[in-house]
Amino acid sequence: MAEILKGKPVADAISAEVKSEAEALRSQGIVPGLMIVRVGERADDLAYENAALKRMRACAIDCTVTTLPEAISQEQLIEKLSAINADVQVHGILLFRPLPAQIDEKAIQHGISPEKDIDCFNPVNLAKIVADDASGFPPCTPAAAIEILKHYRIPLKGKRAVVIGRSLVVGKPLAMLLLKENATVTICHSRTEDLPRVTVEADVLIAAIGRARMITDGYIKEGATVIDVGINLDDTGNLCGDVDTEKGKEKAAFITPVPGGVGSVTTAVLARHVLKACKIAVQRN
Ligand code: NDP
Repeated sequence: MAEILKGKPVADAISAEVKSEAEALRSQGIVPGLMIVRVGERADDLAYENAALKRMRACAIDCTVTTLPEAISQEQLIEKLSAINADVQVHGILLFRPLPAQIDEKAIQHGISPEKDIDCFNPVNLAKIVADDASGFPPCTPAAAIEILKHYRIPLKGKRAVVIGRSLVVGKPLAMLLLKENATVTICHSRTEDLPRVTVEADVLIAAIGRARMITDGYIKEGATVIDVGINLDDTGNLCGDVDTEKGKEKAAFITPVPGGVGSVTTAVLARHVLKACKIAVQRN
């Protein structure tokens, strides 16, 4: 029976470290600051915003929210982002996505300057992950998955890691981060033939699919570590992951829960990224 790898102890450890550094900066008159930019009133965004505000408070980081109307034009949004970029009190900018249909994400993705882009919206930060450039910011979710693996000392070096999902937000950057930890990485997707044959080879299996409880015991190697990134609602409206945790527990040695797993670590990573952006800004000036 698998051990459950809870996110809370990981998030608490990161928060404690960030808080102590943020307080040290504050004692020198430097206040790390995050600006959340929300377009419209999507329930998902509001829920994450509340969690982020709470986490930033706990980490001694200032956090402000800019709310913009759902009908905002692309030009107006670019103008707004440009003004926030220029604000020296703001060290990190988090822009919620998806954006309304009238906004072309590709056309605005350079609108957040790379050094304030703490959730990897700008392709410059994506390139930095591929180039192993430590000055960049990986997206918070894949970084949270790595934090869990490191916190619980799950070996990665030389191990076979399989990531299911190839989005720019989760799957691809996560594969790069695992490679950096010297895992041997395979990326699967919706066109992968005979998926279970590939996934049962994994010492570390990561599901970032968006399909409720799709990964059952038949996909998991005996003794594997399973990280469930998925956030879905099942047929009865309950929150669940991409992994069928009950069945997965029979095969895996370690497994993350949903809720209470990867999702609970992302705001702590966000706080760490704001602190890092602040320290880089201080060094530059
Ligand atoms: P996307 O929809 O962008 O990507 C899903 C990926 O899964 C795609 O690469 C897709 O393949 C692949 N896929 C879909 N169906 C199958 C299948 N049957 N077999 C194999 N692969 C499949 O989702 P995201 O990457 O944005 O998110 C993934 C999950 O993570 C979602 O549940 C999301 O809610 C969750 N999430 C959780 C966060 C957290 O904080 N914990 C934050 C962000 C996301 P293809 O490319 O071929 O279409």
